Amino acid sequence: MDPMTQCPRCQCRDVGRIGTHQYYCWSCCTEMVVTETEVRMFEVAEDGSLLEAGRVETAG
Ligand SMILES: [Zn+2]
Repeated sequence: MDPMTQCPRCQCRDVGRIGTHQYYCWSCCTEMVVTETEVRMFEVAEDGSLLEAGRVETAG
């Protein structure tokens, strides 16, 4: 899979890689976990916990 270069949520390109399959958008503070079939998005709360913010299918 190509590295993610654009946030699927806010479309900005201020996306950094934070793990093997994890990316973080500095614009909307969303953490993204990339799998073979989808991108799962999580909002990072002020206390550091993750809140699922949706998912985008990437296969097909
Ligand atoms: Zn974003």
